[in-house]
Amino acid sequence: MAIIASNFKTNHTRKSTSLFVKEVNDYLKKSGITNEVYVFPTSTSLDTFETVFNFTIGVQNAYATASGSFTGEIGTSQLDEFEIKTILIGHSERRHILGESQEEIARKYEFYKNLGYKIIYCIGEPLEVKNQGIEKTLEYIYEQFVGIDTNYENLILAYEPVWAIGTGVTATNDDIKNVHNAIKSKISKPLLYGGSVKVENVREICQIQNVDGALIGTASWKVEDFIQILENTK
Ligand code: PEP
Repeated sequence: MAIIASNFKTNHTRKSTSLFVKEVNDYLKKSGITNEVYVFPTSTSLDTFETVFNFTIGVQNAYATASGSFTGEIGTSQLDEFEIKTILIGHSERRHILGESQEEIARKYEFYKNLGYKIIYCIGEPLEVKNQGIEKTLEYIYEQFVGIDTNYENLILAYEPVWAIGTGVTATNDDIKNVHNAIKSKISKPLLYGGSVKVENVREICQIQNVDGALIGTASWKVEDFIQILENTK
């Protein structure tokens, strides 16, 4: 059984999200799938569907607050309206493009942990660190656990090397195995791989030792591809 998550990032409209969810719903009802499935649409589309069957809708981001004066952000007062209880934290685009610091990320983690949210927590190294070898890579990754309670029961980890995200360059099986084995030897939580996972390679990646599933951006945005990914990993 694999855990499969789709991250829409800043893609899809309300209409296309509603069609996507409907098709995934229909597929999961028919297929009797045993996978654990998550979809992270944009926050503007959270009311475009009613009940989802056998999978979970989460948010890609929210602020560590219930409400208040945080222009451009959403908090749990808004998430509660959609019964959202699942959040992505530490995604590389938030760390490296939006400039979230480890301190801010840890504060957000603590806030959502205390509310019992399921958290998919992302870690991963940039190319210049990968090029310095596995020891430096692991050192960099362990820094991303500073302030993070890794014993939290509702935690799923996602190893996403920055150089593989959205680039079409998937990490090699050996790269994935080395990092996953090292993380798993310290933290016994489900651990997903993310970074240019595709319809064609998802099965093989999910079969690597200590890979519990995949967090997928680009290759999950067409619903027929996402459904094929679910088929390939059931
Ligand atoms: C992601 O956004 O988490 C991701 C892994 O993206 P992609 O699959 O496009 O590399």
